[in-house]
Amino acid sequence: MKKEYSGTDFINDSYITSLYTGKKENPDEVRRIFAKCREKRALTVEETAELVAISSPELLEEMYQTARELKRTVYGNRIVLFAPLYVGNYCINDCKYCGFKKSAKSTVRKTLSPAELEKELLSLENMGHKRLILVFGESPIYSPEFIAECTRTCYRVKEGNGEIRRVNINAAPLDIDGYKTVKAAGIGTFQVFQETYHKETYAKYHPADTMKGDYLWRLTAMDRAFLGGIDDMGIGALFGLYDWRFEVLGLVTHAVHLQERFGVGPHTISFPRIKPAQELNIPLPYEVSDADFKKLVAILRLAVPYTGMIMTARESEELRSELMQFGVSQIDAGTHLEIGGYQKDASAGQELDKEQFQVGDTRSLDDVIYWLLKNDFIPSFCTSCYRKGRTGEHFMEFAIPGFIKRFCTPNAMLTLAEYLMDYSSERTRREGFRLIEKELAAMEDPKFKEQTMAKLEQIKSGTRDLNF
Ligand code: SAM
Ligand code: SF4
Repeated sequence: MKKEYSGTDFINDSYITSLYTGKKENPDEVRRIFAKCREKRALTVEETAELVAISSPELLEEMYQTARELKRTVYGNRIVLFAPLYVGNYCINDCKYCGFKKSAKSTVRKTLSPAELEKELLSLENMGHKRLILVFGESPIYSPEFIAECTRTCYRVKEGNGEIRRVNINAAPLDIDGYKTVKAAGIGTFQVFQETYHKETYAKYHPADTMKGDYLWRLTAMDRAFLGGIDDMGIGALFGLYDWRFEVLGLVTHAVHLQERFGVGPHTISFPRIKPAQELNIPLPYEVSDADFKKLVAILRLAVPYTGMIMTARESEELRSELMQFGVSQIDAGTHLEIGGYQKDASAGQELDKEQFQVGDTRSLDDVIYWLLKNDFIPSFCTSCYRKGRTGEHFMEFAIPGFIKRFCTPNAMLTLAEYLMDYSSERTRREGFRLIEKELAAMEDPKFKEQTMAKLEQIKSGTRDLNF
């Protein structure tokens, strides 16, 4: 296949390295940048490098405080919930860190049949999930048409009040026509993680004779996605392959590139850390400590204020809890990585030969929701923006004047109420309605409050899918 890159290399490795190598903390400049962050303005790569250089405990604490404030003012106290659904793990690539790599002979290979996919969907819907991310290995079997068909199945399969309302995708980069095909099936965000922005390291982990060995094909994946009509783009880096400081600056360079070229920044950023996986026996000299991880999440929060930040169940309950305070806005819950795993007994342990990597947070969806409520977070299953066409540039127009807080909080309350009525345990229902009452009492606009209360009453009497 002849490749159409549709973009150029915007990562200058030596320039990025020069931005942080030997750099000392500059308190005056850092405080000027914090003031800019409080105005909810995105940072340049050079400004982000100033935050990367912070080393004193006082400035670090100020940075966490600024990130906490920014998160509260932009996002309120919502946490969006989703579930990953692994559709197939055949893979023609050989990424050295991944349990699905073609050379991992002990990995059990599987692709869900249409009937198995339906069963998985019913299990997820009966837990209360509304938002999914479908995950695929890279293989000719997982063509754009196949991904589109899986997406349509997700929207079609419904039971009782259960339905999937948003399907995001994490799959190999496509060409422009491929993106058009999956867009036509109604996908939300298309995610492609660069893994590492550092070219020499990229070559080390992705053999040159594999599809994924082509750095530029992957780097330009989101450019082609936009040209194919997808304006909710998800970028990410796999932390632990190279210096975290380089990766943070690479991610921000990517965000700035998309903003400059298309007028739309990334919809989400993901920052997975490498976890143990089947046949993972490579040295990882750049493993990121919890302290550095916390720092990089705060830096990203400040650098790209309107980009959703996703933290998956790769990480533990404790860390997720802490990072939700000042950065993370989306988490997965009740996660099973095994293909076909949602039909298994919830208490069944992991079998690494059938899964991509080890999960750090194994709680059920209801337990995660209860825990969020206890910590005064509103769990949200909202899919309203996407379905009302508020994506890409339009999303930004709405988001900037405080829209997220004004509309998203009521929408989070409405989708939470649906969950509480249809799926929750008794203790979660009690906590949920307590928090809804508290949020209603705090609503300042009487018109909105009245409309939200009316919709909540409708939900209690059986109407579903109400939103602003
Ligand atoms: N095959 C497609 C690709 O590589 O883009 C999409 C699916 S791949 C399973 C999704 C992501 O999983 C990768 O982009 C990578 O960042 C992450 N991943 C791979 N191995 C991992 C590991 N051992 N620990 C944590 N994340 C891992
Ligand atoms: Fe395949 Fe993706 Fe795993 Fe690489 S990361 S081996 S492309 S599934």
